Amino acid sequence: MTIRFTMLGSGAVRDNPRRAGPSQILQVGDQTLMFDCGRSAATSLAAAGGACEAIDRLFLTHLHFDHVVDLPYIVFTGWVKGREARLGIHGPVGTGDFVSRIIRPPFEQDIDSRVGHGKDLESLDPDVSEVAGAGEFLVDDGYRVSAAPVDHANMPALVYRVDAGDRRVVITGDGKPDEGFTDFCRGADLLAVECSGTPEFLAEQPWGHWHLRPADIARIATEAEVKRVMIKHLVIEDITGDRTAPYRMAEQVRQGYGGEVIVAEDGLVVGLS
Ligand SMILES: [Zn+2]
Repeated sequence: MTIRFTMLGSGAVRDNPRRAGPSQILQVGDQTLMFDCGRSAATSLAAAGGACEAIDRLFLTHLHFDHVVDLPYIVFTGWVKGREARLGIHGPVGTGDFVSRIIRPPFEQDIDSRVGHGKDLESLDPDVSEVAGAGEFLVDDGYRVSAAPVDHANMPALVYRVDAGDRRVVITGDGKPDEGFTDFCRGADLLAVECSGTPEFLAEQPWGHWHLRPADIARIATEAEVKRVMIKHLVIEDITGDRTAPYRMAEQVRQGYGGEVIVAEDGLVVGLS
């Protein structure tokens, strides 16, 4: 079975033209799973050979706008392009309310107009299920998905893990996990993890304590015997313009972790089987 990870957006909030907002896909056999859908997720997906209407499930880590702002675009473009089944969306508490507000109410005129021209509503509304607690919450065609909570900005926030065959992939959003996270990541083939800045940079930001430090990532990856780490959500480059900063952070991770450390780039593919 093909298991392939593609980084779609390695940036964060700022409008960095080199790095789209947070988003990635995991191809598991014939299933396309998207994790977060930040700015330009849909066009990055198209550039990678995918398509909005072919996303089977979308997993949201939390509702900060940089992680979800492409959601209405993906839903409407998928609908217009003839999505066959409703898009499955999984996310933290509040996702149902968010999706119900962002699709129908603001686009009422658009929807009425298209329905007036013969478009049916069948596949428009996503099928949302909220992930309330930790643990495995989904078993589907050849894969299982689990979630763990993270402490991030006083909002519900999750990390996801996909197990498929003997492969394990952990994909974070933002935030600090609890002690159970090491076991959650145990033996992962890939940990795609937020790394927003160096300790010095984060110490200067009012939101800096919401995020992991490179040394935290090294400790978790070492203790969990993770095979490969990809750092992403590269806020420091977005804000300072310093393109070398992500590589310095990768070095900081390597100081405490002996496995492979990859700096995310938009479009980067990691084959896992
Ligand atoms: Zn966030």
